Amino acid sequence: MPLFTHDSFVLVKTTLLDFPGRVAAAIFLPGCHLCCPYCHNPELARPSPDNHFGTSVKQFQDFLALRAPRLGGVAISGGEPLLNPLLPELIHIIKNQGLAIKIDTAGLLPERLKTLLMNQSVDYVAMDLKTLPENYPQLGWKKNNAEEKLRQSLELLKSWGGDFELRTTVAPPLVDKTILEKLIPWTNDVSRWVWQVYHPGITLHPDWGNIEAPDESVLNTWAKELQVDVLIR
Ligand code: SF4
Repeated sequence: MPLFTHDSFVLVKTTLLDFPGRVAAAIFLPGCHLCCPYCHNPELARPSPDNHFGTSVKQFQDFLALRAPRLGGVAISGGEPLLNPLLPELIHIIKNQGLAIKIDTAGLLPERLKTLLMNQSVDYVAMDLKTLPENYPQLGWKKNNAEEKLRQSLELLKSWGGDFELRTTVAPPLVDKTILEKLIPWTNDVSRWVWQVYHPGITLHPDWGNIEAPDESVLNTWAKELQVDVLIR
């Protein structure tokens, strides 16, 4: 497991997109154990030691003390935020302001997720279901346990009782219609499965910056054909 020593992170002061149903702030913590080729946050996924991301814990605390009355919550993303050593302190700061917390995770750290859920540290979880487990080596997960870890995380979320979503970015060939169909059984008893439209841009692997990906109307057609109830965003 890589060790991350950055003491700063990215702060977005207001967002309507990162926490369903809430006006929120969002923070993006550096460091990730995956290297998804289509990742739009290469600096966060693979930070160099001298990167500074603009906001320290103290600055965030001061920001929140002023802005909390106008916020409904804070979304914590990354990177993989469950890996970042600042996470417990940041959760404490946010909870002290009485704000709800949403956390994003790739779902490969069920032990850490369990701790968050048991401690009632988070109010909403967005877990990635990136592709079929056997394809996770293409995302940089070299251990042969992606299926086990994803299943453990998913079962934890189902038994938790809180609000969560599964998210799949539709970026062929990692995810196409055939793979979406094979992922359907994973979403049994899940109330919200989100298909994210892939947008070209800066990516971790430069070859993926301009891949052809289905747009929203194509995804709507696929959802009808596969007879799945999904949220497309
Ligand atoms: S897209 Fe993949 S590599 Fe990028 S931050 Fe998310 S999990 Fe990490």
